[in-house]
Amino acid sequence: MEPWNRDMHRWVYVSIAIGCTVLTSVVIGVFWISASLAAQNGARPGTPGVPYANMPAIAPIGVRVDKYLDVPDSAKGPTVDPAKGYRTQKLGDGLYMITDNAIQSVFMTYEDGVVVVDAPQSFASRIPAAIAEVTDKPITHLIYSHFHADHIGGARRLGGHPIIIAHTETNRLLARDKDPDRPLATVTFDRDYRLSVGSQVLELSYHGTGHSPGNIFIYAPKQRTLVVIDVIFPGWMPWRRLALAQDVPGLFEQVKEIGKWDFDTFVGGHVARSGTRADVTMQLAFMDDLKAAAQTALKNNTPGEGLNPADRGNPWAFFDHYIDRVAVGCVNELTPKWSSRLAAYDVYIWDQCYAMEQSLRID
Ligand SMILES: [Zn+2]
Repeated sequence: MEPWNRDMHRWVYVSIAIGCTVLTSVVIGVFWISASLAAQNGARPGTPGVPYANMPAIAPIGVRVDKYLDVPDSAKGPTVDPAKGYRTQKLGDGLYMITDNAIQSVFMTYEDGVVVVDAPQSFASRIPAAIAEVTDKPITHLIYSHFHADHIGGARRLGGHPIIIAHTETNRLLARDKDPDRPLATVTFDRDYRLSVGSQVLELSYHGTGHSPGNIFIYAPKQRTLVVIDVIFPGWMPWRRLALAQDVPGLFEQVKEIGKWDFDTFVGGHVARSGTRADVTMQLAFMDDLKAAAQTALKNNTPGEGLNPADRGNPWAFFDHYIDRVAVGCVNELTPKWSSRLAAYDVYIWDQCYAMEQSLRID
C-alpha cells in the first residue's frame, strides 16, 4: 500500500471510531436525561428517586446495614467480666476508671473517703462494689461532668449524701429538668474549682459550651490524667452529629485546648478504653479533615442543580437536595483516609458530614 493510501485508511478508521463514540455518547446522554426526566415526571411524590451521582458505598442515614465495618483492634479495650458488668482500671495514685466498656466514670480515693466523678445510669449501682475492691472509705464527694442523664442519672444509686459539685450551668439545667435521679449540686462554680482532699487534688475548669453548657475539664495533676466527657472518643468515630455538640466551633476549640494540656491518660466518658495524647491528636486531625471536606463540598455543589423543576417553589426541598449532595461529596472525600482508622466510621460519617456542613453555614 502507498504511504498516502495508508494514511487515508487510518484517517477513515479514526473518523469512524470518533463518530461512533460521539454518537453513542449522545444516545446515552439523551437516554439518561429522558430517563431521569421521565423518572422525575412520573415520580410518586415523597418516595425515593434515582440515587445522587457518585453515591458512596457506605449506607446513608436510615438505610439498613447487614454488616457494619469491623472494629479495629486499636479501638478495643480489656474485656469486662459479664458476671460483674464492669471493670476497674488504675490510672495513677488512688485514681481509677470504672467502665462497662461503653461508658466510663472515675473515682479517686484519699485518706478519709472517695471522690466519684459521674454516676452513669448504666452501672452507678455497681460503683460502690468497685470502690469496695480498693477501699472501705465512704463516698464523700460526687462531681458532675455535665448535666446529661447517661453520665449522672445514677447519682441516687451511689447511696449516702455526698457533696455534689458541678458548674453553675449544670445546676441551671438540672433545675429545669427536675429529674429526681439527678439531684442538684450543692457546690457550684463558674470558672475554676480546686478540690483538695487529704493528699489528693482535682482541678475543675470551664471552657465554655462545646458538647453542652456546663461541661467541665477535670484534671488530676499528680496522676497526669485529664477527664473531659463526650468530646474525644479514643480510637472511635465520635457519636453521631459530633456527639450532639451544642456548639460545634466551641467543640473544635476544646479539642485544640485539650491537646495543650499536660497529661498521659485521657478519659473521654465513652468507648472501651482510656485514651492517650495520640487519640486526641487523631480526633483533631479527623475533625480538621471533616471541616475541609464539608467546606469543599459546599463550594463544589450548586443549590437547585438536578432538582425536579416542580419542586423549585419548595425551599425546604431545594436545600435538602443541595445538602444531600454536599454530604455525598463530604463522605466520598473522607472515606479513603478515615474508614480504617476510626472504629464505626461507617456508622456515623454521614451524620458528621451533615452536622459539619450545617455548622459551616450557620455558626
Ligand atoms: Zn453528654
